Amino acid sequence: MAYGTTGHRGRPVKGDAMNTTTYEPVIGMEIHAELRTASKMFCGCPVVDTTVAPPNTAICPVCTGLPGAMPVVNQRAVEQAMMVGLALGCTINAHTSFSRKNYFYPDLPKGYQISQYDEPIAVNGWLDVVDDAGRTIRVGIRRAHMEEDTAKLFHLPATHVEGAAYTLIDFNRSSVPLLEIVSEPDMHSVSAAYVYANKIREILRYLGVNSGDMEKGVLRFEANVSVRPAGTTTLGTRTEIKNLNSFRTLVRAVEYEIDRQIRVLEAGGTILQETLGWDELNGTTYSQRSKEHAHDYRYFPEPDLPPLAIDDAWIEEVRATLPELPDAKASRFAEVLGLPENDTRILVGDRALADYFEAATAAYAGLPAAISKWVVGELSYLMNRDGVTVDAVRVEPAALAGLVKLLDKGVINQNSAKDVLGTMFETGKQPDEIVKERGLVQIADQDALSLIADQVLAEHPDEVQAYLEGKETLLQWFMGQVMRATRGRAQPQTVLQLLREKLEGRR
Ligand code: ADP
Ligand code: MG
Ligand code: ZN
Repeated sequence: MAYGTTGHRGRPVKGDAMNTTTYEPVIGMEIHAELRTASKMFCGCPVVDTTVAPPNTAICPVCTGLPGAMPVVNQRAVEQAMMVGLALGCTINAHTSFSRKNYFYPDLPKGYQISQYDEPIAVNGWLDVVDDAGRTIRVGIRRAHMEEDTAKLFHLPATHVEGAAYTLIDFNRSSVPLLEIVSEPDMHSVSAAYVYANKIREILRYLGVNSGDMEKGVLRFEANVSVRPAGTTTLGTRTEIKNLNSFRTLVRAVEYEIDRQIRVLEAGGTILQETLGWDELNGTTYSQRSKEHAHDYRYFPEPDLPPLAIDDAWIEEVRATLPELPDAKASRFAEVLGLPENDTRILVGDRALADYFEAATAAYAGLPAAISKWVVGELSYLMNRDGVTVDAVRVEPAALAGLVKLLDKGVINQNSAKDVLGTMFETGKQPDEIVKERGLVQIADQDALSLIADQVLAEHPDEVQAYLEGKETLLQWFMGQVMRATRGRAQPQTVLQLLREKLEGRR
């Protein structure tokens, strides 16, 4: 995905031409990810797709905040949080507890959110990101803590039937497990923030703990932004931009906010620590409220939930379930399997496609690079063309490997292979079956091809003459004639060599 085209991208930003101060952006990210558990964080209600489930059908007294209802911690949510913590190199706290974060909002029926405060489940991790200047930046992960999502409000405009504007509440999302991942303010460019967010998304998807569907709101970004004179180390006053629901918004909002802060400072103003929203229509940030502080929430230990003790055995049990993560997969594909950088990037970016590639490679270990070329090339083209996902594709990984093998062994040529894959894609048939049915076995036999080449040259004396007079590009044309005569089955290198010999022999 491309990010914005304007702005600084990591280079220090020059302010007004009259002034020589250059500024360095400082960015810290807070990412909220819904966990993909079967049931909610503190009750047995199912986690449903809130964009399709009928409203208020997956609710109970606990998740609608009725007085006296007792929460119980979802073990699977804790394990998924541990998986994320471990994947980000965090320490999993042996003792972790829940706190009440008190605030009023109509989507929060209890009047507090159960969250974690001073004893989060995971702390002190890191993630390496490469910005678009090619620099690797190690972004510290300050903490990841568990909490619960809120209900969803639908603000509806006044209609001539109902009169006044009104708001509906859907509690299906209320108390869905949420993990908040908080970075250190270690990013100094929009591109680093973009890559960081994208990489977190990829890791969550690899772990299977979040679908990454930004349109469904299961993953949300908040960016904390400040600027400081380049070369200095004190942090400037930051603003926090809330509810960034797409990568595009993240990039646009952070770019805008960096520029705005520089403009304010250059004009002699000061930055107020505040919480901002993003106005998509006008492309600007706007103040929502002055920054709230921890004491505003009057955090206190959740009396209805005991602290959790997480022993090493449990941590190791969870660690053993971690899949190979994107960075490790990328090095293995590039260094062990020798895939080109572009193929590696595409495959690693889509775990299902990478798994498909690996299954095909397992069926024909000879040529990983040839297999990846077909997976990211022709097969991906066909899937995109028809909107077919990799789990629905009719070409079995082993069948694709079979096709590459037929090509590698010289049984069919490149052109036929493309045709055959098209048929495999439509019908799910095996490649050798299609090759047999359609008589596509390549003609590599010297004598047979020699006869055909002679025949082609005999039929086109004018072109032969032109070739001999210097129009050597006709070689390709002769080649085309031989291909036609063999219905595309001739082995191209042999034909080329034969034609060249025969033509040169006539000089
Ligand atoms: P709070 O808990 O009040 O939201 P934190 O200090 O925990 O505040 O920081 C929240 C996020 O803001 C973190 O991601 C952190 O990296 C980032 N952050 C803190 N100070 C700055 C700053 N001066 N500039 C940019 N980001 C910052
Ligand atoms: Mg915050
Ligand atoms: Zn419930």
